[in-house]
Amino acid sequence: MAQGSSRHTVASYKPSPKQFKSGLLAKPTTRRATLEGFTVDLIGFHPRHAVAIERMALLRAALRLYRLRVAKVFPWLAHHPQIIEARFEERCAADQDPGGILDWGFYDLRDTDDPTVRYPVTLCLRNFDLTNPPQDVTLRVAGTLAHEHGHYVWRRVLSEGARKAWREALGDDALHIVSAAELRDAWDATGTPRDTTRPHLTSLPLRDPRAYLTIMDLASTTLDWHDGGLYASLVRAARRGDSYKVPENPITTYARTNPEEAFCEALELLVTHGPKALFGPVRAWLTTALPELRGTSPAYRAR
Ligand SMILES: [Zn+2]
Repeated sequence: MAQGSSRHTVASYKPSPKQFKSGLLAKPTTRRATLEGFTVDLIGFHPRHAVAIERMALLRAALRLYRLRVAKVFPWLAHHPQIIEARFEERCAADQDPGGILDWGFYDLRDTDDPTVRYPVTLCLRNFDLTNPPQDVTLRVAGTLAHEHGHYVWRRVLSEGARKAWREALGDDALHIVSAAELRDAWDATGTPRDTTRPHLTSLPLRDPRAYLTIMDLASTTLDWHDGGLYASLVRAARRGDSYKVPENPITTYARTNPEEAFCEALELLVTHGPKALFGPVRAWLTTALPELRGTSPAYRAR
């Protein structure tokens, strides 16, 4: 996948003094600020640099969007914001291997029994591609904030019972067969433009979340959509009579990494697209874990 697309998180890395000396990891400046009501540690921010100014505007827009969306779907999180670490450096990743994959964001996965220890939610602002439309990039940054806050909720907030329920629901989820022709028809039935390169910005996620999530999953694993776009690739696959074995209740491809990442991906979908973008049963599993969730069916809300 494209650079920066991984949000995998690893234990934090301590660079050696030698690496600092080599200039590879020059020690960045840090200062704490309040932005849009959030406490944000700015790392490597130079207020007069054009790149920093541009990324700061993106950060502010994403924080506003994140606040708005979270207040609607998961108010608890709006009242328990974590410290955000906004990194402006060129090289930003959980894995500091110079040749490694760059991240959009990460969260420290070291466990601690000390409730006073709080890890920040980290954003790697330079790894978002500003050649995409601003609305798209802002949504991605807000989504990354949701995903990384998801790790905090999973590790520091959820009860073992809630985590167990989520793991069991995921584990019981069966695979089923879907044909490329069915997915092509679902695309058409929702009136999604055939030439769109950004289906996540159309009504497809809300009108047919199951088809949307399945198509996006296949787009990152199976479909060859670089020639003519996603819809054209579905048409070609339908002509060949292709079909796929996919999760009955799709979340995202990355969600298959493990139950914790699946939880974070579901929370990201919830915040970026709203409850309707989660395929029904996944919304129900999430509501079982998070009783304060809004916009979901009363039957689950009470649990
Ligand atoms: Zn993650």
